[in-house]
Amino acid sequence: MVKIEGKSVFGGIAIGPVEILKKKDNQVLRRHVEDTEEEVRRYEAAGDAAKKQLQNLYEKALTEVGEASAAIFRVHELMLSDMDFVDSITNMIRTQNVNAEYAAAITGDNFSTLFESMDDDYMRARAADVKDVSERLIRILSGEGQNGIRGNEPVILAAEDLAPSETVQLDKSKILAFMTRYGSANSHTAILARTMNIPAVIGVDFPEDCDGKTAVVDGFSGCIYLDPDPEFLKMMTERQAEEIKKRELLQTLKGKENITQSGRKVNVYANVGSVSDVVTALKNDAGGIGLFRSEFLYLEKDHYPTEEEQFQVYKRVAETMAGKKVIIRTLDIGADKQIGYFDMEHEENPALGYRAIRICLDRIDIFKAQLRALYRASAYGNISIMYPMIISLEEVQRIKEISAEVRGELKDAGISFGNVEEGIMIETPAAAIISDLLAEEVDFFSIGTNDLSQYTLAIDRQNPKLDAFFDPHHPAVLRLLKMVADNAHKAGIWVGICGELGADLTLTQAFLDMGMDELSVSPAMVLPLRQIIREIR
Ligand code: PEP
Ligand code: MG
Repeated sequence: MVKIEGKSVFGGIAIGPVEILKKKDNQVLRRHVEDTEEEVRRYEAAGDAAKKQLQNLYEKALTEVGEASAAIFRVHELMLSDMDFVDSITNMIRTQNVNAEYAAAITGDNFSTLFESMDDDYMRARAADVKDVSERLIRILSGEGQNGIRGNEPVILAAEDLAPSETVQLDKSKILAFMTRYGSANSHTAILARTMNIPAVIGVDFPEDCDGKTAVVDGFSGCIYLDPDPEFLKMMTERQAEEIKKRELLQTLKGKENITQSGRKVNVYANVGSVSDVVTALKNDAGGIGLFRSEFLYLEKDHYPTEEEQFQVYKRVAETMAGKKVIIRTLDIGADKQIGYFDMEHEENPALGYRAIRICLDRIDIFKAQLRALYRASAYGNISIMYPMIISLEEVQRIKEISAEVRGELKDAGISFGNVEEGIMIETPAAAIISDLLAEEVDFFSIGTNDLSQYTLAIDRQNPKLDAFFDPHHPAVLRLLKMVADNAHKAGIWVGICGELGADLTLTQAFLDMGMDELSVSPAMVLPLRQIIREIR
């Protein structure tokens, strides 16, 4: 048995024969053409055919994997019509008298190199898309067909990399798992694998002679086992059966309401920390995103993310959620989340220090860049904004002034934005105690029980020695939750929980009794929570 480690993209266990996806040789030859206008027409006809193919693919993906994942084929269509892309191909044909295949190949290479050199992860991941688009054009121009799986037996598909269009065109019923040597966890292929519910592992250095061999793919750990020992195979077969049973049971809850037996409804949303988590949230049928921790955008960079970089990410999230609510929390760094380029001074008590909204109200430039990006992105979906670590009415009033300034500036510049709900996190005892006053100023409350417990109980949530004392079921915490819920409702606004406690299934009944309107939990907890809610009388 040989064990190969990769990076998990989607969990699950698959057992079966490996098939290495053989791609057709797409080497494109440069030919001299005399009649360049005729060649341009040939290219334009291929472009039209490619658009038709993409429209068909969009329809197919729409029914198989849903709107959010199908959208990539709309992006490919846009790339095909992009004027820089089109001009590059037609100019090459006209000025260098080359064939359309060659012009498309060079243009595809140049554009994908350009995307690859960009700082933004999302834009870098588009390099594979533009390559995919140019290869489609070349296939049509040269009359070639698609790549595919050879036999009728379901296989573990091994490939160097997979383009999104290849992935969706493969017959899903014949794929047990994907493993690729390259590819990024943010790519649409990875997203599609997750959405298609197929175990997937990337970064797998599989040997060329594994074609036809039996393998076990452990999508949870990201490990592949070639030629598994009989005992290991038996153990994994049993684990697979258990996983399937568990998943099947929860899957039956998809599309169902989060409603108790007595008819009380509650929104179940997901907490996410990255763009790829958003897809996992959708896959788990979350009703929306209840907490998008925007700090990951700052943590993964070595510079302040620009307004444009942020805008692209927020827009993508809003579009991916296709109209469902997306609550984005403004920057919450400091304490345990330190960022080198912020150059923060050493603090004796960082959890009680310079963090979150305190930094934003001190560094208005950073705050405004984020708010502008958020408001701009709100034109593309259902975005709400939420402010962390609030302790006073003055803070909220100052935030509202700044946010009004941002809206005014965007309006003056003719930049459109949507109707954005603005809420605050209740995660300090101060905010909970004055929640009657705060409720008059905002559209919603989301209770951050991780910090609320830390500050109420005076226990550092980072200190493992204090784990035994850290009790979020403490009556002081629960009383504060009830008080916040009552104050929210008195003022006519909604209230939810986005801290870890929201996923504590032993408290679901208590939260509903308190009147919580929303519970936001990690994506994998959405369906288990739905199950509990539906069992409550
Ligand atoms: C919380 O404090 O409960 C919360 C959701 O925020 P974070 O865990 O990111 O501090
Ligand atoms: Mg917090």
